[in-house]
Amino acid sequence: MQKVKLNNGVEMPIIGLGVFQVSDLVECERSVSDAIQSGYRLIDTASAYMNEEAVGRAIKKSGVNREELFITTKLWIQDSGYENAKKAFEKSLKRLQLDYLDLYLIHQPYGDIYGSWRAMEELYKEGRIRAIGVSNFYPDRLMDLIVHNDIVPAVNQIENHPFFQQQEAQAFLKIQGVHLQAWSQFAQDSTIFNNELLKSIADKYQKSVAQLILRWLVQRGISVIPKSIKKERIAENFNIFDFEISAEDMETIKTLDTGKTTIFDHHDPAKVKFLGEYRFDI
Ligand code: NDP
Repeated sequence: MQKVKLNNGVEMPIIGLGVFQVSDLVECERSVSDAIQSGYRLIDTASAYMNEEAVGRAIKKSGVNREELFITTKLWIQDSGYENAKKAFEKSLKRLQLDYLDLYLIHQPYGDIYGSWRAMEELYKEGRIRAIGVSNFYPDRLMDLIVHNDIVPAVNQIENHPFFQQQEAQAFLKIQGVHLQAWSQFAQDSTIFNNELLKSIADKYQKSVAQLILRWLVQRGISVIPKSIKKERIAENFNIFDFEISAEDMETIKTLDTGKTTIFDHHDPAKVKFLGEYRFDI
């Protein structure tokens, strides 16, 4: 299993299973079980996905030692702030049936992120979380968090796929020592699998477009968390370590970059309002 070393020395698998939008809990438990059986050791969930319990059941049944697994969950906006974050952390842990977390992320850069971060710093220092990080923080927000706090986030989980490559953000994160983990590596757009350019490159390596994209990200030093509920795709997405994309093909893929999000604009006030008002009760 290829791993990346985070800024506190913790090693994290470079590939994991994402479970966003897997709202059917039976399906969620099954896909996490299938992933662990296929060799995955990292699972990425969030309180807002409302499936932590199913993830926890699959972990429990897997029979794999806890230390071999790397479990990530995220703090939602409604739970931001010092006291709320501490409570939300305990609830997530309980739903996951775990006594520590490997990675806890601030899901969105909104609400009282400073209170949340202070709570997370304490939980980290107490040994209840092995690494703390953020998600969807553009460089300006991240710099603000770094400047005003003790601990530099270990990870920033952001949108990254061939149509939005975030090369500048990647360079910035590297300088700050923050690892970039990609979300929606398939751009939440099934037409990506029929993209002529990606297909022609994937054919050369006798790989699928999905495998090409995941390999392309991994070769850029970015970790990936593809989501699938299909056993054969879960295995396919994991099978990316037996080929290498040439420097020339890596450059060619760069031409697909549109330079902007194709999924969710975190700078759009209407979207910020939408997220800020999104509540769930679990
Ligand atoms: P992905 O980029 O992982 O794409 C998932 C889609 O691709 C699903 O429709 C899946 O369908 C399909 N798919 C998966 N593998 C293949 C394959 N080999 N061939 C063809 N189709 C395939 O999207 P997500 O948006 O789920 O992102 C991945 C993970 O990132 C999430 O699950 C979540 O953990 C995280 N995330 C985090 C966000 C954040 O704000 N921090 C935001 C969004 C995602 P099927 O299931 O039917 O196979």
